Amino acid sequence: MSERILQTYRELAIEKGAKLKTYAQVQTIMPDTNYVKVELKDETVYAEHMIISAGKQTNDLLAMLGEQVPLTPTRKTFSWFHSDEVVYGQQALPGWAYDMNGQTYYGFPSIEQ
Ligand SMILES: Cc1cc2nc3c(=O)[nH]c(=O)nc-3n(C[C@H](O)[C@H](O)[C@H](O)COP(=O)(O)OP(=O)(O)OC[C@H]3O[C@@H](n4cnc5c(N)ncnc54)[C@H](O)[C@@H]3O)c2cc1C
Repeated sequence: MSERILQTYRELAIEKGAKLKTYAQVQTIMPDTNYVKVELKDETVYAEHMIISAGKQTNDLLAMLGEQVPLTPTRKTFSWFHSDEVVYGQQALPGWAYDMNGQTYYGFPSIEQ
């Protein structure tokens, strides 16, 4: 499901004129008066505006601009597994969330096999 959502976002962005550059790590960011110069691994791009959304690496990129935001990256355990559709399918299991002493646990039904 999440792969389809991301694919849809990509298609909509391209439709609106975006150019996607995958596997293009930002090496340096150099703001100038009217533009920002961004050096990728194999290419340099220029833009009027830049949005930084690098997840847990956001502060690594912001550091190039002398900025930081309050971020606390944490490592989480994650796994996918095949489930019994009779028990976990959308006909049987609702989406749910459970708060226990400030710790939130959540789950949702299996909607794709
Ligand atoms: C186990 C797990 C389960 C989750 N489940 C859900 C859920 O069910 N629903 C939900 O809404 N959210 C969920 N989340 C949260 C969700 O995944 C995040 O909130 C979301 O992905 C954050 O998006 P982002 O674009 O800010 O960062 P990210 O998705 O982390 O994307 C940052 C991107 O920046 C790239 N990047 C970093 N540095 C550079 C660089 N120097 N140059 C170029 N690119 C760079 C990275 O490669 C990455 O692709 C889950 C998270 C985890 C860990």
